Amino acid sequence: MRCPFCGAQDTKVVDSRLSGEGDQVRRRRKCTVCKERFTTYESAELNLPRIVKRDGSRVPFDGRKLRSGMMRALEKRPVSTEQIDTAMARIQRRLMSSGEREIPSLGVGEMVMDELRQLDQVAYVRFASVYRHFEDVAAFREEIERLERHPNPDLKNHQLDLLEDLEPKTR
Ligand SMILES: [Zn+2]
Repeated sequence: MRCPFCGAQDTKVVDSRLSGEGDQVRRRRKCTVCKERFTTYESAELNLPRIVKRDGSRVPFDGRKLRSGMMRALEKRPVSTEQIDTAMARIQRRLMSSGEREIPSLGVGEMVMDELRQLDQVAYVRFASVYRHFEDVAAFREEIERLERHPNPDLKNHQLDLLEDLEPKTR
């Protein structure tokens, strides 16, 4: 670590201790050239990345917005609040552990789709239709057929709902 006083490259750690609530390391350093001392703090970067929208604008990650998007897709579906919370927590963990400072909104959308695909196929198709802007019923049908060819074994009982639930909504 470069000395902030004289710019020398070589500084020595003379003391190191936990600070904050144990999530930070405070180090006393001493410059080997000018002998000045200074302090550095080290902590894990676990900030949620900013979201880069399609138009290039940046917005802070908004958990409530993400949640309401998921809830809309899951409306009247047999998925518990606890399952939704778990899925949300998993998405946030993925975002934090990515270490990225910015993530395209499309990437977040893909994460949501990953979760919904596991939870409920109807919700998944609803969300994907908005997200990927399925342009017509044919594109919808294609996705549904793809799902039916590769059903998630736990979700077979929801298969029948799929077309009934979705068709009236595709103008
Ligand atoms: Zn120095």
